[in-house]
Amino acid sequence: MAAVQVLWLWHKLAGCSASAPRMLTVARNMPDGTWWHAAKTTLANHGFVCPSLIESEIAPPEILEVARHDKAVRRTLLRRYKLTVVQPRALARDDREFVMAAQKDLLGFQLAVQHVFPNRVCLAWEGADVHLATSDWECLRWWAVVRTTACWPCQMCGGTSSVDLLDECPLCGEVQVDVAHCLHVCPGTESLFNSCLGNFMSRQIDAQIFFAVLFHTSVGPTLDLARAKYVAAAVRLALSLGETA
Ligand SMILES: [Zn+2]
Repeated sequence: MAAVQVLWLWHKLAGCSASAPRMLTVARNMPDGTWWHAAKTTLANHGFVCPSLIESEIAPPEILEVARHDKAVRRTLLRRYKLTVVQPRALARDDREFVMAAQKDLLGFQLAVQHVFPNRVCLAWEGADVHLATSDWECLRWWAVVRTTACWPCQMCGGTSSVDLLDECPLCGEVQVDVAHCLHVCPGTESLFNSCLGNFMSRQIDAQIFFAVLFHTSVGPTLDLARAKYVAAAVRLALSLGETA
């Protein structure tokens, strides 16, 4: 949204303020390095195409002229420009970027990001109670990181970064295990699964479906929290034992 802010200031100055033309001309005609050049570069780098306030034709020329000297009219006009011209284009651009980024595979889960994030504003804990205990929010945090990366989140317990594989599963001894192993098939987390999620789902299902259920959109506050607690507990257990092994 930084580009929107830049664009916003840009057109606010270019289109509406009575003093804008002089400021704009001075900034534009100076050597590289002025705010004008910075704004121009930012918009170009973002490939963000948006008509100027004048080009958008949201108001006739006579109203634009009034707006140059009338603060109230200017404010109304700019708000309309922001909401009807800039914002829809900015959101559409964000959506396009999200769709491209969501093609990435979540290795181990046998899913692409788009399968657990159907849209960019889907947190999948929308049903969570804001009054949840701190420990529950912590579980949601672990769940969210695993969901986003499909990796071991070692950075959350003293490591420097997440890793794809552990040399050996500290719970069952299998070698070269990913976090999917820990959550889906490791015998060392089976009782944990049964206590957290046994009433809702089974591990004896296809991996793709299992992880889609575990990480897809919100399915209700109770199940959302239960699956977050399972993911957090299982992954933390494995990592904590791995550290002390
Ligand atoms: Zn294991």
